[in-house]
Amino acid sequence: MSRVFAQPFRFIAKTMIDFALPPRCPGCAEVIDEVGAFCPVCWGRMEWLGNSGCVTCGLPLAATEADSCARCLAEPPGLDRMRAAVAYDELPRSIALRLKYGRKVALARTMARYMAPLRNDALITPLIIPVPLHRRRLWSRGFNQSGLVARELARAWGREFDARLLRRTRPTQSLKGMSHNQRKKAVDGAFGIAQKERVAGRDIVLVDDVLTSGSTAEACAKVLRKAGARRVELICWARVVRPSQLMR
Ligand SMILES: [Zn+2]
Ligand SMILES: [Zn+2]
Repeated sequence: MSRVFAQPFRFIAKTMIDFALPPRCPGCAEVIDEVGAFCPVCWGRMEWLGNSGCVTCGLPLAATEADSCARCLAEPPGLDRMRAAVAYDELPRSIALRLKYGRKVALARTMARYMAPLRNDALITPLIIPVPLHRRRLWSRGFNQSGLVARELARAWGREFDARLLRRTRPTQSLKGMSHNQRKKAVDGAFGIAQKERVAGRDIVLVDDVLTSGSTAEACAKVLRKAGARRVELICWARVVRPSQLMR
């Protein structure tokens, strides 16, 4: 079919599908008005983190802190900026798991929709890349859930996306239960870059589904910086936040 006809046809087909299947909330399956949005009840159940907080790590600031938190000032993290849409909790967790094990692309779009406002407008033509899986994991799962989210986010921002540039060169074990130093050691040197010249001088936005300690993203940032990246930032769907960090 020629391009002239393909466009309206696709539009009609999409309209028919939208008409046949009313959009449902990805949290509770309640019928909603807008595709990819949460219903007001589910929306209210989640702790949205937004763009405020420490300029670097994004965590809420104490009354005595200006734009950086004391921790970032004392020990600057390996990432220039970290943001997450929601605090990791029951519902954000179930959304992330359903994407990871169910390959629900619509969920990746929903996540990206709520991550998109966390964009840093100061970045110069950023390149969007997912935190990679090792190829063995990629084969067994068939896809990288962070890659699906990164692609949707790049699409929402109208930015370049590359899922092959950054690679996990060796498999890493689960970081669960490890101390900060153990985690750092476990992921150090586990990443490599396919074409260093594509990274040199660029602003990079790393995308991940869930942010726990940040060790994995920091190891990614380390190789990207070594290859000459100007800035490396991280955007996630959900982030593990201790209640004390939210109460500040
Ligand atoms: Zn809902
Ligand atoms: Zn901070």
